[in-house]
Amino acid sequence: MNSEQHDLYAKYDVVVIGGGPVGLATALECSKAGQKTLVLEQSVFYNQSGSSGDLVRMFRTAYTEDFMADLAVQCMSLWNELEAEAGEPLRLMTGLLNFGDPKYGEGGPEGTLMDPIRNLDRHHMAYTILDRDGVEEKLPFQNLPDEWVGIDMPDNGCINVPLMLRTLTRLCREHRVDLFDYATVKRVRADNTKTYPSAKWVVEGAMHGPKGASALARAFAFRADKIAITPGAYVNHILYPSFGFTLDVNIWEMVYEYYAIDPSIQFDKMWFQFQEDSKPIPGGKPVSNLFYGFPSVPWGPPNMCRIAVDTATNVIADPDQRQYPVISPEDLENTREWLHKHVLGVGPHPVPVFAGTCLQTNVSDNMFVLDFVPERYLRGAQGESDAARERTIVVFTAGWAMKFVPLLGRVLRELLLDGKTSQYDVSHFSIERKPGGVPIIRDGPVERRRDVLGAHCTGSSLHRLGH
Ligand SMILES: Cc1cc2nc3c(=O)[nH]c(=O)nc-3n(C[C@H](O)[C@H](O)[C@H](O)COP(=O)(O)OP(=O)(O)OC[C@H]3O[C@@H](n4cnc5c(N)ncnc54)[C@H](O)[C@@H]3O)c2cc1C
Repeated sequence: MNSEQHDLYAKYDVVVIGGGPVGLATALECSKAGQKTLVLEQSVFYNQSGSSGDLVRMFRTAYTEDFMADLAVQCMSLWNELEAEAGEPLRLMTGLLNFGDPKYGEGGPEGTLMDPIRNLDRHHMAYTILDRDGVEEKLPFQNLPDEWVGIDMPDNGCINVPLMLRTLTRLCREHRVDLFDYATVKRVRADNTKTYPSAKWVVEGAMHGPKGASALARAFAFRADKIAITPGAYVNHILYPSFGFTLDVNIWEMVYEYYAIDPSIQFDKMWFQFQEDSKPIPGGKPVSNLFYGFPSVPWGPPNMCRIAVDTATNVIADPDQRQYPVISPEDLENTREWLHKHVLGVGPHPVPVFAGTCLQTNVSDNMFVLDFVPERYLRGAQGESDAARERTIVVFTAGWAMKFVPLLGRVLRELLLDGKTSQYDVSHFSIERKPGGVPIIRDGPVERRRDVLGAHCTGSSLHRLGH
């Protein structure tokens, strides 16, 4: 539908703020459940300015935490459902080879490289354990330390991100979801008018319409019964003006690169290397040794593979602090040096053919935030009691979420429409949790700090078992 002809004060059962994959999956679910649904996206759909840029993401099942392993397994059937509805696969099941120092992560929250085996066994999922030579036989690596081990897991694969986004928007349209891009939400407030008796909320903002940013913006004030706030890294842009609180997020400006690789040597599966950071030189920063990569995928540039370091030197508190023209030279150089030592087929002086950055939002325990806006922040109600507004707004942000998109859409729909989930344990993603005793919620605005020391220095982010 053309937003220029649309009633910008119309009432919806559900308004979704943020048209990334999580928002689109939520809208699709709500619409299928008979809800009149609207998605408002500040950029274009399939934009590169949030967390879903580039071409690939990992679908993985290897988790040390039981609840994450269980959700990953539950998500597999939801991917199958989505792919059946799409009429084509949205993932290429290449498998994933995790390898590295078997001691890496000992005592950390996600355990060691081998710790997910317990959950793979519990879920009867296939895997093969490899020694160093086995890893080097499977993939074009060299000069790996003798004591290193690997675990090869076939039930994992590359998510085709552009196709998934195109599919979700197509299915949303087919299910009559209204999708508006160039529509920036500024705040949510309680609806105290009686224009629409059932509407609890007004979603306010400005919309440029189909001519994009060059067109004059028009104000909108959509009415909504329920709201899903899914703006990724921009979450505090909505939460603070609407409710006066923010989430304590670290946003990594992650660098990704594409390298040309000899087509006769190609990687044929995804991989992730685990090794302690190199010690910093005095006064310097530790250098990360977490690297990951993808095969050349049919929907990507030929004879090129994506390889990157799994941390970020540039860590920001708000997307407005992003350094648009800058791709961290430290992260590029770290990856290039590692490639030179350990990857076959990229030539003696590997240079990235192209590179970009993408925002990864984290809270300190690296998990999702997926919960209702707490009741104490749902202020401003008059006439109708506050209790009527309880459990009507759900927030999702943070964590490594692409592999969970179909499940998150289902969970967000269930929370909004039923007030609880049917079978998915999301208790670990509470907005009220306090990892290490520090609450995720903070009253007040974002502290505009910039942590140029790097994400790998920030406590529990130290040990991670991949995406
Ligand atoms: C380099 C990198 C590698 C990753 N690898 C993996 C991986 O291998 N596996 C995995 O599972 N996950 C991975 N992730 C994480 C995954 O990509 C994210 O969890 C996922 O993209 C989040 O999707 P989203 O819909 O929540 O956010 P986004 O895609 O960022 O969507 C949010 C949308 O909201 C819009 N928006 C923001 N503010 C407003 C507003 N005020 N009004 C209207 N719209 C607004 C934004 O423009 C954006 O389009 C990776 C992330 C990065 C950066």
